[in-house]
Amino acid sequence: MAQAATDKGLQLLGITEHGPGIPGTIDPIYFRNLWTIPRKMYGVELLLGSELNIIDYKGNVDLGEEYLKRMDICIAGLHSLCYTPGTVEQNTSAVIGAIRNPYIKIITHPGDGTAVLDYEPIVLAAKEHHTLLEINNSSLDPYREKETAPDNFREILCLCKKYHQPVILGSDAHISFAIAKYDLIYPLLAETEFPETLIMNDKLEAFKAYIKQ
Ligand SMILES: [Zn+2]
Repeated sequence: MAQAATDKGLQLLGITEHGPGIPGTIDPIYFRNLWTIPRKMYGVELLLGSELNIIDYKGNVDLGEEYLKRMDICIAGLHSLCYTPGTVEQNTSAVIGAIRNPYIKIITHPGDGTAVLDYEPIVLAAKEHHTLLEINNSSLDPYREKETAPDNFREILCLCKKYHQPVILGSDAHISFAIAKYDLIYPLLAETEFPETLIMNDKLEAFKAYIKQ
């Protein structure tokens, strides 16, 4: 993954293995061992951590603080394998609960359609708590796409534009070939005339400063 990122000209790569709620993911002991991995490989800087699972309507996640505090970056999202969708209020409260968690810096694929969400309070909470929302390429892939995904991400982009809330584009690459693949997001950015200044991917120092706060 690091070599592929370098080959594509990236300066920084985030690798966030799924938390234990997803069947078949790594054992939690993996996260205790992240200290052994160099944070620069093949010329690319690495941020290592976890994509945590939001597991209830309060926004609790599937690893405790003893793990979260050891990671370079924690991100969190809803996954149907370990989240039971509730009402729109319950789902929205689940995501906002995760946004309020000071260890969580990015909410992954909030538009993927796993649960029905009310995006305005989510964008406002993200702004208040200094959390990024991810615009996820993989969720827009016709192979995986739920029919609401394009409209959801379009609405998130419009709200982020309205409230001057930055976003991060995510390839959600589960294989090296997909790193930095954002082809399905570009039409949505064009359609919503989303300001380039609010996209964090190519603003390395601003991104690092953002996730430190
Ligand atoms: Zn995910």
